[in-house]
Amino acid sequence: MTTRSETRTALDHLLTEIEHRNPAQPEFHQAAHEVLETLAPVLAARPEYAEPGLVERLVEPERQVIFRVPWQDDQGRVHVNRGFRVEFNSALGPYKGGLRFHPSVNLGVIKFLGFEQVFKNALTGLGIGGGKGGSDFDPHGRSDAEVMRFCQSFMTELYRHIGEHTDVPAGDIGVGGREIGYLFGQYRRITNRWEAGVLTGKGAGWGGSLIRPEATGYGNVLFAAAMLRERGEDLEGQTAVVSGSGNVAIYTIEKLAALGANAVTCSDSSGYVVDEKGIDVELLKQVKEVERGRVDTYAERRGSSARFVPGGRVWEVPADLALPSATQNELDENDAATLVRNGVKAVSEGANMPATPEAVHLLQRSGVAFGPGKAANAGGVAVSALEMAQNHARTSWTAARVEEELTRIMNDIHTTCHETADRYGAPGDYVTGANIAGFERVADAMLAQGVI
Ligand code: NDP
Repeated sequence: MTTRSETRTALDHLLTEIEHRNPAQPEFHQAAHEVLETLAPVLAARPEYAEPGLVERLVEPERQVIFRVPWQDDQGRVHVNRGFRVEFNSALGPYKGGLRFHPSVNLGVIKFLGFEQVFKNALTGLGIGGGKGGSDFDPHGRSDAEVMRFCQSFMTELYRHIGEHTDVPAGDIGVGGREIGYLFGQYRRITNRWEAGVLTGKGAGWGGSLIRPEATGYGNVLFAAAMLRERGEDLEGQTAVVSGSGNVAIYTIEKLAALGANAVTCSDSSGYVVDEKGIDVELLKQVKEVERGRVDTYAERRGSSARFVPGGRVWEVPADLALPSATQNELDENDAATLVRNGVKAVSEGANMPATPEAVHLLQRSGVAFGPGKAANAGGVAVSALEMAQNHARTSWTAARVEEELTRIMNDIHTTCHETADRYGAPGDYVTGANIAGFERVADAMLAQGVI
């Protein structure tokens, strides 16, 4: 019988080995620490999981592809970017996870995202494995034609690694409906196949699911509502700080308003907007999605209720809820202390790993309900899996049906995390609940399928 402290020592050794074997990948180390540090109780209680090699296999991607992406700008100059696809774990289904186009992308960032994705996808209860990809290409300021040429070049290599039964990418930072369209077009051209299920986040007229664009933001608000319900409260009348102004942030703000709450901020890498009347989501969509502008333009057009704060930290705006929806490590320990001082009740992660480990500990120690991204933002990938199901059946569901499924899945994820945390002696700790519940499902499938 292995004790909890022996298990912890073994996990500490493994974490040291992960750092040695994957040098210069701080985000991947952070994600591995965050998960492995919570697994000791389940490894001690369930000897089958402590089998040598199981956790070691879980932290090693099944396959990692890195490739050259050459493309020409509108002046005919040649640029060379780097493309990635990390196929992390396929024990539960085809690899599934988005593509990120952002200059900060490197192998460590894609591995952290792919690792998180394995547990997130398991939590949805659907048949999808975990993967992630992207490029260090920066779409900001690029013309449509340049983005199209980049996407075509990226897919010219990626197509050989993906497929509806193999690996199904989707969007993430810098990859929305426009990019998915160009990627899908090139895949179809190269393969001469109408294989709708190879990518998700497609346009509604050509194989996309209704509610997919909304799903991550809507799902995060539903998760936050479930955490509040657990404490005898609801969303009605609460104010919220939201960071980001992309896909996740926009639909977070929209759903908060629909459920009677009020988001008073949004942001981008240039600063944040605080709008005392509450963010006007239609104006934000016009500026960001139609004109591809910046949040200062929103403030200019909105009038006297809104103010742009260049370079500021959105977390300094007092609110009941915080929903980080931009990028990793955007909310640190100081920000968490500010939120706590201002009386925040719940923090729910729309982005992946937006809160640093120190921030998470401080929020939890202060009694704030904390929803980790792998649970709280799983609505996006869940509806992607529903898009795959619709593609497979060559049908499309109504928006109402998809939203009903999304609501059920988010409530189920909340219940699973809550009950699992209780079962392993960590009541109210959604981080432990999400990590263990995701781990159990993947580990069971890996054990059943042998050492591969
Ligand atoms: P978008 O590209 O649509 O929007 C990203 C937003 O975050 C922009 O406002 C962007 O501002 C800001 N941002 C990005 N990087 C930085 C940075 N380094 N510093 C400051 N601001 C930054 O992406 P999404 O909304 O799709 O994704 C947001 C987060 O949600 C990511 O963590 C993603 O992994 C996660 N997520 C997304 C899902 C989806 O379905 N799309 C599913 C689950 C999680 P700027 O334009 O100035 O860079």
